[in-house]
Amino acid sequence: MIRVGDAATAPAFADAAKASLADGQLRRNVRHATDVIRTKRAAVVEEMPDWEALRESGRQIKAHVLRYLDGYLEQFERNCTAAGGHVHWARDADEANRIVIDLIRGRGESEVIKVKTMTSDETRLNLALEGAGIVPYETDLADLIIQLGHDRPSHIVVPALHKNRHEIRQLFMDRMQLGELGDEPAELTRAARAFLREKFLRVPVGFSGANFLVAETGGVCVVESEGNGRMCLTLPKVLITMVGIEKIVPWLQDLEVFLQLLPRSATGERMNPYNSVWTGVTPGDGPEEFHVILLDNGRTDVLRDEEARTTLACIRCGACLNQCPVYRQTGGHAYGSIYSGPIGAILTPQLQGMQHSTSLPYASSLCGACYEVCPVKINIPEILIHLRTRVVEQGGAPIGERVAMKGAAVAFTGGRTLAMAQAAGRLAQKPFERDGLLYDLPGVLAGWTATRDLPAIPAQSFRQWWSTR
Ligand code: SF4
Repeated sequence: MIRVGDAATAPAFADAAKASLADGQLRRNVRHATDVIRTKRAAVVEEMPDWEALRESGRQIKAHVLRYLDGYLEQFERNCTAAGGHVHWARDADEANRIVIDLIRGRGESEVIKVKTMTSDETRLNLALEGAGIVPYETDLADLIIQLGHDRPSHIVVPALHKNRHEIRQLFMDRMQLGELGDEPAELTRAARAFLREKFLRVPVGFSGANFLVAETGGVCVVESEGNGRMCLTLPKVLITMVGIEKIVPWLQDLEVFLQLLPRSATGERMNPYNSVWTGVTPGDGPEEFHVILLDNGRTDVLRDEEARTTLACIRCGACLNQCPVYRQTGGHAYGSIYSGPIGAILTPQLQGMQHSTSLPYASSLCGACYEVCPVKINIPEILIHLRTRVVEQGGAPIGERVAMKGAAVAFTGGRTLAMAQAAGRLAQKPFERDGLLYDLPGVLAGWTATRDLPAIPAQSFRQWWSTR
C-alpha cells in the first residue's frame, strides 16, 4: 500500500491551518527558527560567485537522472552487490517495512537504532516495527524529541522546529526521568548524548536513510550535523538503509555539486560536519552486513507525469519551507504530511494520490519565493498550477470556484451572453459599489474584498463605447 505518513486521512489544509494559526507559541517558534536559517543561508549563498551555475548543474544532473532512472538504478544494484551489499526493491510502504522487519527478526534482534530518515517516516516504519515487537530508537536529536513527545515532524530538515528549548527541557525531564536539567542547548545535548550513548554501544542493528546513491560505485551517502549518523552507520553489525529511488546520481563526482548546494540551502552551513559515503562492506571495518531498500511508493507514477516529474529532483534541503510566507504562518503540521511547505504541497498529492490534491496545491500564494531559493531550480509554482488543473479535471476544486468557472464558461460563449452577464453584474453590484470599487461582498467573495481592491463592472462595456464613436 502506498502511504505518505498519515496524509491519506489528514484533514484539509485550510481546516488544519486554523489550529496552527491559533497557536501563538508555535507561530513564534516557527518564525524565529526560519528567520535564523534564512539569514544564515542568505549569507553563505551570497559569498558564492558561482551559485547560479551550481544550481544549474544541480538541475541538469537531476533532469538527466530522471530521464535515465531505470538504467542508473540497475547500475547501482550491480555495483553495490559486487561490493558485498544486498539490494532490495520495495514497491510500496508495506513492502519496505516488511523487508526491514524480516531482516531484523532474521538476526534474532528486537531493537534498532535509527538515523534521521524521511522515507521511514513516509512508510510509518516505527509503527510497523513496534507492531512486530521491535523497539526503534531515534538518534537524531530532533527526531528523538519528536519520538519522546509522541509528536509529528513539522519541518523536513528541522523536524522539531516548532518546539523551543523550554518545552524540550520539560520533555527530557519527564521522559528521561531526569531530576534537574537546565534549558541551555549544551545541557540538553548532554542529556540526549547520555541517553543515546548506551544504545549506540549495545544495539547491533542500525537503520538509515540516504541523501544520495552513487550509480558509478554502488556507494551510499548520508550527510548530517550531529555525528549520530556516523555512529549508526559504523557501530552496528547490520546496517539497513531505506531510500527513495530518485536519490541516485550517476557519478561520484556529482556529489561535488550537491555537497555544496545542500548544506548552504538547508542549514546555512558551508559544509555538513559529517559526510559519510560507504560502499558495500569492508571486513573488519564497520557493519558486517549491509542492505539497501530502494523504495518506489508512488515515485514511478510521479515520473510518468512530464509536467510534474521534476518534483523528484528535490534534495530535501527545506529552503522552500523557510522562505514560504504560508509555511511561516502555519508551520508544518497543517500540511498533514511528513513533507510540508511548498515541496510537501506538490509531493504529497502526487505520491499519496489525489486525496490531498483538493487542498494542498492551493496552500500557496504562488509568490515564487520557493522557486528562487530552490538549489535544483524546481519550478514549484508551475507544478502547483498543474496540480490545480488536475484537481479541477477530477472535479475536486472548491465549490465556489467550480460555480464561478461554470458561470464564466456560459457568459463567454458569445457576445450576447457576455452582455447579459455584464448587465446582471451591474445590477447585482449596486449595493456594494463606491467610487468605482466594490466593498463588503457577501459569501465566498467576502475574503477577496476584505483584503483587496475589486473594481466594479464599468457602466459601459468596450463594445458599447466603441459603437457610439
Ligand atoms: S523543493 Fe527545492 S528548496 Fe524545496 S526542499 Fe526540495 S530542493 Fe529544497
